[in-house]
Amino acid sequence: MTMTDDSRVERDFYARDAEEQQAFLQQTWCDHCQGVDLGMTDPVEYEQKHTIFIEGRCTGCGQPVITELTDESF
Ligand SMILES: [Zn+2]
Repeated sequence: MTMTDDSRVERDFYARDAEEQQAFLQQTWCDHCQGVDLGMTDPVEYEQKHTIFIEGRCTGCGQPVITELTDESF
């Protein structure tokens, strides 16, 4: 019954409004750079455990950056 709880469901980032896409691409936090809003490239969106994640690469260092969206923001 909990078998699928951890499964990752792919979502289409590009189905979002252009403005929304821009906002997500700009509003990032990079652990590696320890900086906000450095921006990301190559976004991939998915849902896991009732949370939406947008994962991309930091434009500053090229390391993966992940934005988490809670229920209320989608
Ligand atoms: Zn970075």
